[in-house]
Amino acid sequence: MQSRWNDRDAGEAVDRYAKAGVDRDLALRVYTTRLLGADPKLVLHGGGNTSVKTRMRDLNGEETDVLCVKGSGWDMATIEPAGLPAVRLDPLRKLRTRESLSDEDMVKLQRANLIDPGAPNPSVETLLHAFLPHKFVDHTHSIAVLSLTDQPDGEALCREVYDGRMGFVPYIMPGFGLAKVSAEAFEADPKVEGLILLKHGIFTFGADAREAYERMIAMVSRAEDRLKRGRRSVFAGIQLPQSGAAQADIAPLVRGACSVEDGKADGAYKRFILDFRGGPAVLNFVNGAELARYSQQGVVTPDHVIRIKNRPLIAPPPEEGRLDAFKQGLRETVQAFVGHYEEYFARNNARCANSKRMLDPMPRVVLVPGLGLFGLGRSKKDARIAADLAESAVETITDAEAIGRFEALPEADLFDCEYWSLEQAKLGQGAEKPLAGQIALVTGAAGAIGAATAKAFAQAGAEIALLDIDEGAAKARAQEIGGAALAVRCDVTDARSTRAAFDKVVEIFGGLDIAISNAGAAWQGRIGDIDETTLRKSFELNFFAHQRVAQNAVRIMRAQGTGGALLFNVSKQAVNPGPNFGPYGLPKAATLFLVRQYALDYGSEGIRANAVNADRVRSGLLTDAMIAARSTARGLSEKDYMGGNLLGREVTADDVAQAFLFHALALKTTGDVTTVDGGNIAAALR
Ligand code: ZN
Repeated sequence: MQSRWNDRDAGEAVDRYAKAGVDRDLALRVYTTRLLGADPKLVLHGGGNTSVKTRMRDLNGEETDVLCVKGSGWDMATIEPAGLPAVRLDPLRKLRTRESLSDEDMVKLQRANLIDPGAPNPSVETLLHAFLPHKFVDHTHSIAVLSLTDQPDGEALCREVYDGRMGFVPYIMPGFGLAKVSAEAFEADPKVEGLILLKHGIFTFGADAREAYERMIAMVSRAEDRLKRGRRSVFAGIQLPQSGAAQADIAPLVRGACSVEDGKADGAYKRFILDFRGGPAVLNFVNGAELARYSQQGVVTPDHVIRIKNRPLIAPPPEEGRLDAFKQGLRETVQAFVGHYEEYFARNNARCANSKRMLDPMPRVVLVPGLGLFGLGRSKKDARIAADLAESAVETITDAEAIGRFEALPEADLFDCEYWSLEQAKLGQGAEKPLAGQIALVTGAAGAIGAATAKAFAQAGAEIALLDIDEGAAKARAQEIGGAALAVRCDVTDARSTRAAFDKVVEIFGGLDIAISNAGAAWQGRIGDIDETTLRKSFELNFFAHQRVAQNAVRIMRAQGTGGALLFNVSKQAVNPGPNFGPYGLPKAATLFLVRQYALDYGSEGIRANAVNADRVRSGLLTDAMIAARSTARGLSEKDYMGGNLLGREVTADDVAQAFLFHALALKTTGDVTTVDGGNIAAALR
């Protein structure tokens, strides 16, 4: 591992922050924190923190000694000075004389001593930083260091590697106790340049930012060098089926098996989003004959347990053409996983006077021999984090096994982290959005109605895929939405293009819950004069494309087995024809019946089919030029033409989007058509 310290960059950081009134100490603290945070082999999703001891003026203008330490919610790779809240140092140091201190009291004391009362919570490892005398203190969960410490003889191995240059701290859960023991480990030998926290990570310290940072790089490099020596090849593989299955076929089965009925409403499920990894290192790991031994011991460093639970689920190896057997086997393994998790909870909760609330028992990492691994989360972001942590665990365990044998912490220690009182206190806070965990797809997503619908579903918490024949326009719309919104090119009049687009959505998110079949175009002509080619073209897009989209959606929804919502953009033309709009209205009338057929044929599987009939919405179908021409022809102002309905109100794309959203949430409604036209009795359905 190379030091990325650069005098020019460091100087630039000092100059840049000086303009914002930030002193040199804190500027350099930000600079090296970012260097550490940018390397996933050192820091991953909150696994690490840093601090600097400096002087600062408090709100009374009095200079005081402070510890600027990483605050919760900040990512080290992109941290700013505000992400290192200043805490008065003397009161923190005084705590060392105490016998014990609960986590809740520790958090209160830390907050009470913040210079800025609005700052984020200082790290739970704040006291460890405060009790060490050094100006700069750096902490990471380096993969290489964990590969050494996570062994039955981890301490002996590290002592040999570090040759007196590092102190050693046995595993203790982060908090007051760990801070005290770590300070004692340093004081026992003040020559040490850092501390190895067994089965947790590494601290280095120094008199300046560069020294602490470069000690981290040097000590991690020593671990890396040790891992290169005396390696044996891991892991001997199992016999896999001749032809494995495709990820797009497996993901919906995994997703379905790991969904749980919500209990809040009949037909509601708690679902997860998936994130897939299938590189050579992952495959080597999941195909190993001893997978059940080395993958099931526990997480590689305790904070991972909050994100990915104490162990991953091992799926049976899937075989092409035998997916039913895989589905059955998978459901059995999920059931067993849940059973083990409930036992694990009961066993350890008893030790805690039954004071804990059980978290949902579903796995957050699923290993699939022959294929790879899936991270599971309630959002794409959380799924990605789970997959990142799983991939780093693959590396840690592979390296540990290459030079020895991987050994995790005992179950009780991991339970204490997973069910840590401060984590339990967060439960039930911040209500989830109504479509959290669901995946929605919109066709014709670049148009006004498609884009408004994609936005409304994303705001309701769904992960969203925007399909359009114009990929560039779909990308621009996805960018407006932000987050994990996905743009996919899709020609819905082409079966292969449609299938490929659905496969892409499944590969990225793991499945599909809501399909909004929206793409359409208005062909016009007097019905007796229209040529057959034009009529067939209109049927291709305004009827067959809806059938194609629904068919693909139903295929995925049935694999998941958790129901789903089919939503169709029909049109008032389907029930109330306009003059010379036959080529458009006829296929739309067929699509209206298609909605009812899907409602009838798939209701028993929880798949609902509903439609929206909109009229006179400013969009690609009804352009500004058309509106101008039509209102002039009728001698109306544009406003009177657009609001020419019973309510006298113009209908917008957002109104249509809200009707689709209502249908996605209405679990007891199927075969329904909702009219969004401001009121038109001639187009009323009943
Ligand atoms: Zn840590």
